[in-house]
Amino acid sequence: MTPSKTLLSITCLLSAASALGQDKVLNIYSARHYPTDEVMYSDFTKATGIKINRVDADDAGILARLKAEGAASPADVILLVDAARLWRAEVDGLFLPIKSAKLDEAIPANLRAKPADNGGTAWFGLSTRARVIVYDKLKFNKTDVDGYEKLADAKLKGNLCIRSGSHPYNLSLFGAMTEHLGPQKTEAWLKGLVDNMARSPKGGDTDQIKGVASGECGVAVTNTYYLARMMRSSNPADKTVAEKVGVVFPNQSSWGTHMNVAGGAVARHAKNTDNAVKFLEYLASPAAQNHFANGNNEWPAAKGVSFDNPALKAMTGGNFKSELLPISAVGMNQIKVQQMLDRVGFK
Ligand code: FE
Repeated sequence: MTPSKTLLSITCLLSAASALGQDKVLNIYSARHYPTDEVMYSDFTKATGIKINRVDADDAGILARLKAEGAASPADVILLVDAARLWRAEVDGLFLPIKSAKLDEAIPANLRAKPADNGGTAWFGLSTRARVIVYDKLKFNKTDVDGYEKLADAKLKGNLCIRSGSHPYNLSLFGAMTEHLGPQKTEAWLKGLVDNMARSPKGGDTDQIKGVASGECGVAVTNTYYLARMMRSSNPADKTVAEKVGVVFPNQSSWGTHMNVAGGAVARHAKNTDNAVKFLEYLASPAAQNHFANGNNEWPAAKGVSFDNPALKAMTGGNFKSELLPISAVGMNQIKVQQMLDRVGFK
């Protein structure tokens, strides 16, 4: 046999093997950096017999990898943790819009991509997280920070701690502000944030909460699940930190607290498409939605799912008003926002 024929038959063997294995494998690229998700993957495998191979990276790393791999990419499902990135990946053509009656039924229209040309949907929000303000109860009152606009008040000078402006969680918050206030006022507001900073942006959301507890920061911005995690921690030091800070769900008397989504999509070049859709449908099921709520302290994105999370209940007092912007519009503003950040010197 000539070398090229050998190669051909090996290739045939491999593709026959992968065809045979097709119904039992799912390749996931995931930016969900939460160990509590493991139980969802194992539950899905137990229920379906489909083995999951997972690659973990951050949102940006996953998008770069998908682009580099192109049609050869083994990825079937993509899980990202932010609206801006989901939108970016959609626009870059990295997702395969799908039609699923189950997902259409479960996930509200404002928490998923706009319908694609073929009538399918490029991505679905699967859980939501609120971006809230925490404050030093000894220094400030709730009313000092009960709206995002107030983060720019001169009263907070030298007090604000926040992670990098270019982090997707902030790009999405600022993208939402751009929808509410318009670009001009948003840029002035961002300048106000820079003027109020206690320190140059560094660390993640948990570091901002710790900064408030230690007294280095008077106020900070964080996603709710980071605070809930500390409230429910078995480590007494975490609990002490959580007890020291006050939390505000901003803009209750106007447009509501900013909500971001973590979501999922089928990869453009997926080889196990049926399994991929099945997995996304599973993530929208009440069982998986409960894992998001109880495991990682997020809110279910699916309609009508009841859950019981003591930290979320304590934090909100039961209910709160959340922003109802189409989350895809928020993602769309990110380039504009990044330019504003560069102009006002928000690192
Ligand atoms: Fe996170």
